[in-house]
This record gives sequence, C-alpha cells and structure tokens, in this order.
Amino acid sequence: AIPLVVAIATERAARGGVLVTDRLALERMRTVGTVVFDKTGTLTRGRPGVTDAVGTQRYDRDQLLALAAAAEGDSEHPLARAIRDAAASRDLDVPPASDFSSSTGIGVGATVDGEEVAVGGPGLLREHGTEPLPDAEPWSAGGATVLHVLVDGTVAGAIAVADEVRDTAREAVEALHARGVRVAMITGDAEPVARSVAEQLGIDDVLAEVRPEDKSARIAELQRGGRTVAMVGDGVNDAPALARADVGLAIGAGTDVAIASAGVVLASDDPRSVLSVIRLAEAAYAKMR
Ligand code: ADP
Ligand code: MG
Repeated sequence: AIPLVVAIATERAARGGVLVTDRLALERMRTVGTVVFDKTGTLTRGRPGVTDAVGTQRYDRDQLLALAAAAEGDSEHPLARAIRDAAASRDLDVPPASDFSSSTGIGVGATVDGEEVAVGGPGLLREHGTEPLPDAEPWSAGGATVLHVLVDGTVAGAIAVADEVRDTAREAVEALHARGVRVAMITGDAEPVARSVAEQLGIDDVLAEVRPEDKSARIAELQRGGRTVAMVGDGVNDAPALARADVGLAIGAGTDVAIASAGVVLASDDPRSVLSVIRLAEAAYAKMR
C-alpha cells in the first residue's frame, strides 16, 4: 500500500505538473548527488535557428542552404527544421530529393540532382575522413552547432545553427549548487559547443559527442561509488539514459518513450522544476519517520 503522506504529496504534485510513476525513484531523489541534464531541448529551447553559412567552390550561401534543406527534407530533428526554415524565409528554390537516410547522432543524406548530399556534425566528417572548414571554427567556439554539407563525399560548405540557452537553466544550476548537488550536461553535440553552453550556465561536468546508444553507459560511470544520479531529458534519443539513472525525469511532457522510461514526468519544460521534485521528495518522506 502507498503510505498516505506520499499519496497526498504526490497527488498534490500531480496538480502542480509533477507526475510520479515510480515512488522509489522519488525517494532516491532525496539523496541525489549529481543531476545530469540533456542539452538540446532541456537546457536550451530546442528551437534552433541558422545563424551563418558558407559555401565553397561552386556553391554560394543560398545554393548551399537550398541543397542542405533538400537533404533535410525528411528529418524531424530540430536542426533539420532550422535549415528548412532558413531556406523558406529566404525564398530559396529547394530541389527535389530522394532516397533519404539518417544516422542518429551523425546526420542525414539524400540524393539531390543525381548527387549524394549529406549534412551532419563531426561524426559525418570523421566517416568521410574530411576536415572541418576553418571558417566554421569560431562558430562552434561561440556555442553554435556546426553542420557540414558534403556533396559526393566532398565538403561543399558549412552551416551554423544556434539554440538559445533557457534563462531558467542558469537558476536551476545555481539552486542545485546551493544544495551541494553536482551538475553535468550530456549531449551528442560537439565538444566546443557543449563547453560554451556549460560555461554560460556554470555546469561542472561536460559529456559531449556522446552517441545516443552510449548515453546510458555514461550515466552508469557517474553512478560509480554509489552516487545517486538523476537524469533530466526530453526523451529525444535519451530514453535509455533516463531508464538507467537512479531517477529519470522526463521534462516538458517529453515523448511517449521518455514518459515510459522516466520515474518522474514533469509537465513544465522549466529546468527549475527539478528543484520542486527534490523538495517534494523531502516533504513526502520526512513526514513518515
Ligand atoms: P543531443 O544529444 O544534443 O540531443 P542529437 O543526438 O540529437 O543531440 O544529435 C547529435 C548531433 O548529430 C548533432 O549535433 C548533429 O551534429 C548530428 N545530427 C543529428 N541529426 C541531424 C540532422 N537531421 N541533420 C544534421 N545533423 C544531425
Ligand atoms: Mg536530445
């Protein structure tokens, strides 16, 4: 049976937008030592926009954006949406594409005008054994995600996409620090971007360029030595990490998979709601002793 105080507390919490699906997870939140945030969509708004683009040889900026938008035509990723929006707002003619493919955490590809066009991050460049464009270096140092566009395996240009850091994320980090909790960030994004965001927010540990299938193993490393680890994500490819953490918190109502893998579901996408969960755990379990 559910102890009455816990039942009442979780009832009240549900009305405040906190849904507890695993009471043991809630209890573990009292002793949380590290909170790991997913970057995209959790610490940042998850609604990125194109801030820069550069083409090489036969491509000018607009041609490059149109080509990239064509290759991203089939992708649901926020980065894809940003590129398609940029092409649309510039009234570019996006050529038809076929044979779409996508590789999680790497990028996308399609056939456009008989050529193989690929768009992606550092993993894509590594796959093709190519170097990033020097023009793109300052972009990532400034916190933007850099995507390169490859045509038949050769770099045709690069696009900078930036996502806004949530105002409330910095406050969440400060409040966690005030309680002696360590704060980490996990992301598939490149190291310099991750570092820039972490610096803006005062985050202690940065786990960057982590492939979706490796996220849960990295959570396990943080748990070593018996540390209680909570993971906060929107569930776009971090469901296994949410399940692995001692407390999985799905934020912004997340995706269906996230809700299924999380012990606590937060209706709000405000990172500060993690603090409400800690307070809820303390209130619910303190009264039972
Ligand atoms: P996060 O862990 O921050 O949510 P993802 O795992 O979704 O990030 O993506 C990691 C990286 O994979 C991106 O930063 C990008 O380099 C590449 N990527 C993923 N999807 C796409 C896409 N549709 N187009 C281009 N690159 C992509
Ligand atoms: Mg994500």
